[in-house]
Order: sequence, then structure tokens, then C-alpha cells
Amino acid sequence: MADASPEIVPVSAFRDNYVWTLRQVGPNGRHAAVVDPGEAAPVLEYLAREKLELAAILATHHHADHVGGIAELRKKFDVPVYGPRSEPIATLTHPVSEGDEVSVPELGVTFSVLDIPGHTRAHIAYYGAGALFCGDTLFACGCGRLFEGTAEQMYASLQKLLALPNDTKVYCGHEYTLANIGFAMGVEPGNAALAAREKRDRRLREAGKPTLPSTIGEERATNPFLRCREPAIVDSVNKYLGARVSDPVRVFAAIRDWKNRA
Ligand SMILES: [Zn+2]
Repeated sequence: MADASPEIVPVSAFRDNYVWTLRQVGPNGRHAAVVDPGEAAPVLEYLAREKLELAAILATHHHADHVGGIAELRKKFDVPVYGPRSEPIATLTHPVSEGDEVSVPELGVTFSVLDIPGHTRAHIAYYGAGALFCGDTLFACGCGRLFEGTAEQMYASLQKLLALPNDTKVYCGHEYTLANIGFAMGVEPGNAALAAREKRDRRLREAGKPTLPSTIGEERATNPFLRCREPAIVDSVNKYLGARVSDPVRVFAAIRDWKNRA
């Protein structure tokens, strides 16, 4: 029997956004769902080219580069729009929060909703079919900026994602990977897994390919924001601060501050 999981393809939007597009596998597949359509035009082009009908729209948070295309898409496809219950997104039809499930029956998938505040006040993730759609919270080798939340909230949100199985595929909202790896190598220069990742992801970008998805296991091994208890990282942070801290939330906050200034 064929694998029922949908195929997940990136549709590029703006300069470095990805609109993750889930599509039915197989010759009879004609449905798709999109995550964080900041722009409608590239999505509409993709759906028309591939002869796909939209079945659902999922949003992770309220920033315009993630939800700006929803109204336009709904003019053509009258589909449910899922998104965070406590954020101002006028186009939502189905507000959700942690504990809720989102099913797209046309694609045979169901996602659990996780609350992961920090980048925004009520940012959510969708987890299911071995995939995580985490918007601007966890990036490949990085994390989102703290626009509406605290370091404590973001740290807890990242720890929640880190508790998912290592082989979970991580689909984040932007192609920031090479810049993130460059920063990470300055924080943890002795990390061999990070050096290997840099080589591989540089080749992918040189070939014009996305570096995503990554996996939770790979993030665990290379992402400094998930490694706040590593002695080498704590040492680096103490040098950066010129002070001794070891509490992982304070280490996290210092790395976030360091990255903002880098
Ligand atoms: Zn954002």
C-alpha cells in the first residue's frame, strides 16, 4: 500500500519565505493545503500549474509575510483557515490553540496544535505525519526574534519542540540557514556536526536548493539555541557577557542578544 503521507514542497515567496505546500501523492492526487501563505500569487501559480485544488490554509502567527495571501486565496478557494486563537488574523475561520487537532481529510492528515509563544504572543506549531510546521519559532540552526514574548517563553517553546522525536522533519518559515550556521560556528567553533552541516547546506544553496526540512535530531546537535547547557556554549556566552551565567534561560537570552547584534 502506498504511503498515505502527503508530499511537502516549498513554494518560494518574497525574498526568503517558504509557503509549505502539502499535496496528495499519486496520479489521482488533486488536493493541497498550504502553511503560512504570505503571498497569494506564487501559490496560485503553483496550484494552477500542478492542477491542484486548495483544501485548507494553516497559519502559525499573525505576521503579514505569513498570512498576507490568505484573503486572495480564499477568493478562489472557499476553504477553512486555521490559525492561532489569540492573535489578530482577520481571515481565520477556525481559531485553534494547544490541545486542538487540525484535520485535512482530503490529504488524510491530522495535526496536533502546539502553543509556542515567544516570537509572537500566541504563535502555534502544527505537528503530524512526522512533520513540524513551526513558522518563525525554530529555524534551521537558529530561532525567531522575540517580538512579543520573553526569553523564558521562547526557551520553553523551543524545549517543547526539542521533546519531539529526533526524526521529526522541521519545516520553518524562512531560508536563513547559512547565516544562522555562520553565527552558530562563532558560538560553538568546535562542533564537528555543525561544520559538516555547513558544508552540506552550502552545497545545497549553491545548487539553488532549500536547506529544509531539517530534523529535530539535527537541530539538537547543531542549533546553539537548543544547546544552552553545553559547556562550550556556556563558556562562549560567558566570554560574550563578561560575566558568569549558567542558567539555561539566561544563556539562551544572551545568545539571542548576541545574534541580534551580530
Ligand atoms: Zn514572524
